[in-house]
Amino acid sequence: MSRNMMIVMALISACLIAVMVMITDFGNGESKDLSDNMDADESVSLDIDEVTDGKEEVHSSYDEGMLEDKVFDYEEKFSQNDYAGDTDAEDQVAFEKGSGNVLVSAPHTTTHERDGKVRDAEIYTGSIALLLQKYSDVHVIYNVYEGEDHNHVIGGEYKEKIGDIIEEKEIDLVVDIHGSDASRDFDLDIGTINGETVSAENVELLKYSFNNQDIHEVHENDTFSASGEGTITNHTWNQYNTEAMQLEIHRDYRDPRNDFDSYVQILKSLVFYVENADQ
Ligand SMILES: [Zn+2]
Repeated sequence: MSRNMMIVMALISACLIAVMVMITDFGNGESKDLSDNMDADESVSLDIDEVTDGKEEVHSSYDEGMLEDKVFDYEEKFSQNDYAGDTDAEDQVAFEKGSGNVLVSAPHTTTHERDGKVRDAEIYTGSIALLLQKYSDVHVIYNVYEGEDHNHVIGGEYKEKIGDIIEEKEIDLVVDIHGSDASRDFDLDIGTINGETVSAENVELLKYSFNNQDIHEVHENDTFSASGEGTITNHTWNQYNTEAMQLEIHRDYRDPRNDFDSYVQILKSLVFYVENADQ
């Protein structure tokens, strides 16, 4: 092979490599899949503030015997009219402004309609959301009365409002609160479309917050992965490019009239979580 031939061959090879690098870059450049992070659970380092104001406040409210009345007061908003909620209110969707970059959502606080059928309320998810607002000053969006199912309908007022709040308040994380029935074998199921919609750090911090309150059966995408197109988690991630997760809280933790302490465990876990996630 002549010297000139060799130079030409080398140039052709260099061009081929450059083209391949460009193709690979285009393939990955737009990717927003965080699932790579999910494999690295052990290496996730958490920046945790162990004593948060909100958690302390829940604690003293509880010790002073003030918390129980508050829970039932707040839940009354939703339990009235056989859990159809405040049917005289102007709007089915309400927003309570807080501070920080986390938005808590409670779409199934009352009975709701899915495909022409009325479904049960996920009781005490409403009071949990409102108490989170009170104790950790987080932004909260919630369902007010029986109407369309915000976690099923494609689009809809509730998710549109979430888009507006994300933009106005510079929200980085939406925590969507639900309740599962007594037949489930988890305490909490975290729906993230199998790791797609939220960072590994947020999942680990959430697990830490629950374990710290002695809640250990914390599963991920066990029964409720939030993968349906109409879910708040799916919509928030895919339409607004904002991290989101769906939390299914077992019925045993939402029965404060019979077991107040379990309800408080959930409340403390979530107060601690949102205060640490908001950084
Ligand atoms: Zn639900």
